[in-house]
Amino acid sequence: MIFRVVIIIIILALVYYLYRIMTGNSEYRKCQKCNGQGYWKATRGERDKCDICKGSGKVLR
Ligand SMILES: [Zn+2]
Repeated sequence: MIFRVVIIIIILALVYYLYRIMTGNSEYRKCQKCNGQGYWKATRGERDKCDICKGSGKVLR
């Protein structure tokens, strides 16, 4: 039943990968000023780049 072992390894690798993504993103939080957009709409409708997060939409904790 080597096939079953391969399936288990793939699932474990996937879980570990998802865990790494979640913990990796915990260093950052959504920018409060632009609400994670990286820009906000100016009065005349043009996009102003957010100066807090430099347009990335997220800031370090
Ligand atoms: Zn921002």
